[in-house]
Amino acid sequence: MQLPLSESDFMQIVQANELFIGLDRDGTLVPYTLTPDMAYVDKTVLDIVQLLTNTKNTTVAIVSARGLNQLKKDFPFNNIVLAGSCGLEISYPDHKIITNETALRIKPLLPELIEALQSLIKSKYQAIIENHGLTVCLHTKLISDRSILQNIEKKVIALGKIFPQLQINKLETTYEFYPNINWSKGMAIETIFKYLALDFNQGLSIFVGDSQADESAYEVINSYNGITFKVAHNQNVSKAKILLNSEKILIAMLDQIARMRCNLFGKIS
Ligand SMILES: [Mg+2]
Repeated sequence: MQLPLSESDFMQIVQANELFIGLDRDGTLVPYTLTPDMAYVDKTVLDIVQLLTNTKNTTVAIVSARGLNQLKKDFPFNNIVLAGSCGLEISYPDHKIITNETALRIKPLLPELIEALQSLIKSKYQAIIENHGLTVCLHTKLISDRSILQNIEKKVIALGKIFPQLQINKLETTYEFYPNINWSKGMAIETIFKYLALDFNQGLSIFVGDSQADESAYEVINSYNGITFKVAHNQNVSKAKILLNSEKILIAMLDQIARMRCNLFGKIS
């Protein structure tokens, strides 16, 4: 499969003395599906991620909107960084978990929010409520009727007034209820670099994402002269340096990087 990056960029990744690989989950490692619970991580992808995490001088971080518990089930590996809820809760290779304090304070409100969302959609709308632990998502992908969608939006906005501790991020077919704090995937990346004392003015960092939420991560990685990739489901303007046509090309690229780096640097014993 032809990779969309130059031979020199590819070899720079393979040969970097220290490599950080940040990866988004949904729409990046895992194709989107009709409902979120159908989007599981394929065995091939798991094997590649595991090989990368077991390779010396290589740090892998999954930075996803999914909750930490879900990521732990998906990627049950040592030597991996799992940044759930976009990094509000980060699990490190030393097994330490650091949770954002404001998000923790707001967490007890979430059952009340979920109850309000349940009564909002009742059983008549095919909306899906997902509790990610520190955030809550309302998915409307299964609903096509515009008047129902407008009605839900009106009610979601009203709910936002009842829960000022939460901000509502409107994504394509999802409303994400997120603690009302200044936080982004880019800040999660900076936090991980700091915790692991990674100096990416020296090594090389890359990040792969697909949506608006990943733009802040591209910005941070680009500022360290890293290489950023976007799986381009849409034509939106992006700060990512390289566009990938599909998840398949990303998987093929990661597979080659994992094998070549493992040959070059060896496995962690
Ligand atoms: Mg994504």
